[in-house]
Amino acid sequence: MPSNETLMQYFEWYLPSDSTLWNKLTKESKHLENIGITHLWLPPAYKGASGKEDVGYGVYDLYDLGEFDQKGAIPTKYGTKDEYLNAIQILHESNIKVLADIVLNHKMGADETEEVLAVQDDASDRNVSLTDAKPITVWTKYNFPGRGNTYSDFKWNWTHFHGVDWDENTGTAAIYKFYGKHWDENVDKENGNFDYLMGADIDLNNFDVVKELKKWGKWYIDTTLLDGFRLDAVKHIRAEFFPEWLTSLREITGKKLFSVGEYWSLNIDTINNFINKTEGVMSLFDVPLHYNFYRASISNGEFDMSQIFEGTLVGTNPEKAVTFVDNHDTEPGQALESWVLDWFKPLAYSLILLRKDGFPCVFYGDYYGIPEKEVGPKDQMLQTLLKVRKYYAYGEQYDYFNNRNVVGFTRLGDYEHPDSGLAVVMSDARGGAVQMNVGKNLANTIFYDCTGNLSETVYVDNDGNGIFYCKDGSVSVWIKQGQSVN
Ligand code: CA
Repeated sequence: MPSNETLMQYFEWYLPSDSTLWNKLTKESKHLENIGITHLWLPPAYKGASGKEDVGYGVYDLYDLGEFDQKGAIPTKYGTKDEYLNAIQILHESNIKVLADIVLNHKMGADETEEVLAVQDDASDRNVSLTDAKPITVWTKYNFPGRGNTYSDFKWNWTHFHGVDWDENTGTAAIYKFYGKHWDENVDKENGNFDYLMGADIDLNNFDVVKELKKWGKWYIDTTLLDGFRLDAVKHIRAEFFPEWLTSLREITGKKLFSVGEYWSLNIDTINNFINKTEGVMSLFDVPLHYNFYRASISNGEFDMSQIFEGTLVGTNPEKAVTFVDNHDTEPGQALESWVLDWFKPLAYSLILLRKDGFPCVFYGDYYGIPEKEVGPKDQMLQTLLKVRKYYAYGEQYDYFNNRNVVGFTRLGDYEHPDSGLAVVMSDARGGAVQMNVGKNLANTIFYDCTGNLSETVYVDNDGNGIFYCKDGSVSVWIKQGQSVN
């Protein structure tokens, strides 16, 4: 049996715009391999509308990976194309797979305007039009003067989009839908129809657009040798697009292309419905679990820890769950700010890294800190838990989620990983003890708390039972004495 796999999101929102991330990665790859990272989610690598200042979600030119003098500079926020390709090669040498972050919902920073007929829709119910069709001036012409026809001669114009949120002629911000176009069905139902998010909304029913995006996908994979995707804003894109696009790319390239989508919703039925509609071609981030962590962290010990997996993806559809604690959108100052407080972070990471279900994702901002927001790094705590995941978090799992405050679980270990198995106890309020069973193979042994929170040891009896405990508002991770996490 192979070792556990672990994903890391390798950026946070406030990284300096100094085009050094790709080079930093080449220096960090061995370290990341050593701590057990097997997959890396890299930020959007192509040129955004704000050039070097763009985090990457304001996508301007999908073919410009920091190669052409567009939007004020050749490199992106993270570096040049050559540095990107070099980083991926070095990560592969460290047996780390690369997921590319891609935005297929919208484009921004068009080169020219054009005049179109459009109706204005009610922003809070986009099924309702407020006006008749009238001419407006929109930023929808993408000619890519800095790239020309290199890699693709496809030029975007208004026919490739559904609508925009700005009339340049009158200087009016509103939801404009181009005359004769329809928002896609099978998108999120918020605001009546949530096809439109921002920028120029791409029409993924347009045959030429779909053909071009397939061509681009193959080019991107062939050029960079990436291993999969993190798909942005999937709830704003018609669900049927993804099986078609991903399946086609998997067939053409012969690659597995593990993919995880960002469907930002707290409703587990909505999330599972999307997985069904997309025929299971992608995993999704477990957004409800993140919010359970967030609520637990701000509840002053009043959260019912026995319900921590209630309404989550990992609790209902574990095969498709990518679990995470925080990300670039939930960090302080961002649009979806819901930052899991410091004291709860070790508990949350224990719940995603040490259990059998879910593909866990570690956030850069937790590992390295967020200097802009004076958030310190948690690399020491995370290294311990990552090592426990890599070496000891194997085998059958017994759950002990029977108490509002003190909960725990055990892993019984397996034969492929010597001396594996563990016991985890945590509390969001007063500390306490739980009698738990770690299995016959670990009977008659001594366990210690490898987090260092407690210095005492626990004796596991003949039947594999031990009384494991933790301090107030903390987690203790017990493994067999003599086993190292360094
Ligand atoms: Ca859309």
